[in-house]
Amino acid sequence: MAVLAMLNRPSKDAPAHDPAADAFHFADAGSPQLSVLDLGATRGDGIFETISVGYGRPQALEHHLRRFASSARTLALPEPDLDAWRDAILAVVARIEPADEAYVKTVMTRGIEGGDKPTGWVYGSVSPDNSRVRREGIRVVLLDRGYRHDIEATAPWLLAGAKTLSYAVNRAVAREAARREADDVVFVSSDGVLLEGPTSTLVLRRGDELITPGTGLGILDGTTQANVFRFAESKGMSTGFELAAPDVLLAADAAWLVSSVRLAAPIRAVDGVEKQIDHEFTAELNEYLKHLED
Ligand code: PLP
Repeated sequence: MAVLAMLNRPSKDAPAHDPAADAFHFADAGSPQLSVLDLGATRGDGIFETISVGYGRPQALEHHLRRFASSARTLALPEPDLDAWRDAILAVVARIEPADEAYVKTVMTRGIEGGDKPTGWVYGSVSPDNSRVRREGIRVVLLDRGYRHDIEATAPWLLAGAKTLSYAVNRAVAREAARREADDVVFVSSDGVLLEGPTSTLVLRRGDELITPGTGLGILDGTTQANVFRFAESKGMSTGFELAAPDVLLAADAAWLVSSVRLAAPIRAVDGVEKQIDHEFTAELNEYLKHLED
């Protein structure tokens, strides 16, 4: 059963929906809760986070909250009241039925067109079973994102690097991947730089080193990637950010698309060319990610 909490006041910079009500209330996740005029629904004008919950503990919670606030700044939304969001997240997590793996999704929209109150909610549920994809891996295709790698600095109005609700493009590329008989996508900038997946961060292994494209390229600052690096460093590996071309992915000893919920999905083919999966490292890494304490 899914759990839903609606926030009464998602931001201290905006009025509460009901000045007399509590900070949030639980609502029926199976019933409509949104106005048809909500800008999240009509324009995709809002932000979200999806947070893994491993054995009842939300993971990388503070990193997710920081990114939520950073996305809000990029969209010039009212600043989320992170204490209110944290309380609602923990309350939802406590109500999800016991499971090894679950997730919560936080959403904040600009609210009803012409209004002054953002809409906010936290939705929680048990996760789908991702064990097969973690074991057997994914086939990816490289797709042009159509932007240069410096878009975040040169055209900030395109909101690259923020986690916005406008994910129709990210869904469309998943369909394009399926048309090409692949499972997922690695975006490449129009000037030939490896970026990220549509819902994940790219991590490569070269010998004893893990690398990722890094921030400032119009891509998300991945919470899972940060924990993957922590795991690698605890094993004595080095980690780093690198502006890399697609041939670096092709030549890497191993590669993963990493994200909350699915965790580390090893890449087993790039544009139809088979790639070695590092099964032992991947299994150990996913165990680590599932059991994170925060
Ligand atoms: N990049 C994009 C575009 C994403 O949508 C996501 C997550 O959904 C990620 C990267 C991975 O982020 P995280 O590891 O914090 O889930």
